[in-house]
Amino acid sequence: MAYITIDDNRCKGCGLCTIACPKKLVSMSETPNSLGYTVATFSSPEKCTGCALCAEMCPDVAISVFKE
Ligand code: SF4
Ligand code: SF4
Repeated sequence: MAYITIDDNRCKGCGLCTIACPKKLVSMSETPNSLGYTVATFSSPEKCTGCALCAEMCPDVAISVFKE
């Protein structure tokens, strides 16, 4: 099983990770973080392959990838 975590405090809401995920598992939340940015959210972890393309794309190193 693979999954990612997104650090809300690092995310700037650029949306690049939503484009990078081939499974379309990352989308933008409508809820802003403490800095006022709408942050990325992860859904459907059962579909995540752990490819890490989302994390590699993130300019703010907000995404961590885990594989179990
Ligand atoms: S690790 Fe791969 S499949 Fe999983 S959310 Fe990131 S880009 Fe999508
Ligand atoms: S690429 Fe990084 S900074 Fe941009 S929306 Fe995704 S998690 Fe946030």
